[in-house]
Amino acid sequence: EKWTQFGLSSGVGEVIKKVLKYERPSPIQAQAIPAVMSGRDVIGIAKTGSGKTIAFLLPMFRHIMDQRPLEPGEGPIALIMTPTRELAVQIHKECKHFTRILNLRAVCCYGGAPIKDQIAELKRGAEIIICTPGRMIDLLCANSGRVTNLKRVTYLVLDEADRMFDMGFEPQVMKMVNNVRPGRQTILFSATFPRKMEALARKILRKPLEITV
Ligand code: AMP
Repeated sequence: EKWTQFGLSSGVGEVIKKVLKYERPSPIQAQAIPAVMSGRDVIGIAKTGSGKTIAFLLPMFRHIMDQRPLEPGEGPIALIMTPTRELAVQIHKECKHFTRILNLRAVCCYGGAPIKDQIAELKRGAEIIICTPGRMIDLLCANSGRVTNLKRVTYLVLDEADRMFDMGFEPQVMKMVNNVRPGRQTILFSATFPRKMEALARKILRKPLEITV
């Protein structure tokens, strides 16, 4: 398996090989990247350590490069929801290797840090928001919804969905999902896939491809 087979945005392959030094795609990446690139909704059953972050980031860059530019005042094109601050920071870190060369902006929004700073970051505009659900709801409501909005979101990621729902974030997640346009592409990653998760996934994704590693 090679990185070049995926049709990545220019420069992305070089970052992977020369900066991150990932020699070849992991099994989840080899399966999920082409599936997501095809535009379908995808459910990936994979744990942390599988390389799932890269699996949803690389197709996201292609998606955004096709959809940009962002007009002043517009909200993000891609929204990534994850259960914890640690995960959000980790995804942001991985993302920044690529946004630098693609000339995109990714903002990381999580609870337990001053909301003021995050508001200022969002006001500058960003194609990508990586967030925890509670803080994102607060930001969407801040200043009567003038900080950011979900009107332009067409690429939605639910990372570690089982943990997000176990932690009680279902109302916040569903509130956001229901405010993103139906024509979006949705990617859901979960370490486990119990009945309850299946029922939720049915409400959120449209004819998803299911990938298990
Ligand atoms: P994740 O499952 O996304 O949390 O990734 C787990 C770790 O694997 C991260 O530290 C990544 O930097 C690393 N990683 C992701 N993809 C690859 C790859 N294809 N080859 C080697 N390491 C990778």
